[in-house]
Amino acid sequence: MVRVTITGSGTPIMVPGRAGPGALVEVDPDIKLQFDCGRATTLRLTEAGVKLPDIDAVFLTHHHSDHMVGLPDLAMSHWLEQWGDNVSPLEVVAPIGPAADYAASALDVWQGEMTIRAAHTGREGNAAINVSTFAPSDRPQVVFETGEVSVSAVAVRHEPIVPAVAYRVDTPAGSVVISGDTAVCPTLESISAAATVLVQEVFRAKAVPDGLLSDPESIASYHSDVTQVGEMAARAGVGTLLLTHAIPPPTSAESKVDIVNDIRRAGYRGPVIVADDLDHVDFSPHLEQ
Ligand SMILES: [Zn+2]
Ligand SMILES: [Zn+2]
Repeated sequence: MVRVTITGSGTPIMVPGRAGPGALVEVDPDIKLQFDCGRATTLRLTEAGVKLPDIDAVFLTHHHSDHMVGLPDLAMSHWLEQWGDNVSPLEVVAPIGPAADYAASALDVWQGEMTIRAAHTGREGNAAINVSTFAPSDRPQVVFETGEVSVSAVAVRHEPIVPAVAYRVDTPAGSVVISGDTAVCPTLESISAAATVLVQEVFRAKAVPDGLLSDPESIASYHSDVTQVGEMAARAGVGTLLLTHAIPPPTSAESKVDIVNDIRRAGYRGPVIVADDLDHVDFSPHLEQ
């Protein structure tokens, strides 16, 4: 079975109950892959029942703080949950550039604290992050493999943030695509082809209240318009659409229905979930929720 859990449905906009962006993909029996690591990701992972040392890798989509600010917390908590001689670093996969540079240095300011903590409690070593990088391109490339599971990445459109990537997890039971932040674009559509689940950011311009965003048009230009998301998901044959990182954030059941209605009008007929934190979708070779 594969479980996709939204560890954070939020955005840079602070909203009660919505952690920073992230999604966890778990593949039976014991593969755990985390995509992005926004604020409170570590708390949400624990609430989802994850033992932090069991995380195989964290994949970063792009260098926006809302997607990465939880990384030092996760790396240090990952260390604190390990004892003995075989303490392993947190594995991070990121495109070459600012996100990878950030991951490589995210623990620097905590070295002194960790050294004192380790000496005081008899721990071995310090928390550490091991970064694997890749050069993103418009052609999907495999960036991680474990067992029968592989993760591919492709460049997407989130300028002026460059690079930005989407990821696809392929498993024997099906596939999961994580859009990251992007406008709807051909590379996102191609990597989403026949995905069992698409974890997709979404922007609904007509719902943005006055004063929420400093410049709504510039924000709209690098996010995924809700109508274009519905059109793309229909063309790509996506199985289930798991919407997250919604702008504006849904504040009621009605505002979620408004998003779903726009997706339907755009032609997508599959299941649509407008996610709250910890919402999840399960699938085995036959989709079940
Ligand atoms: Zn974002
Ligand atoms: Zn972004």
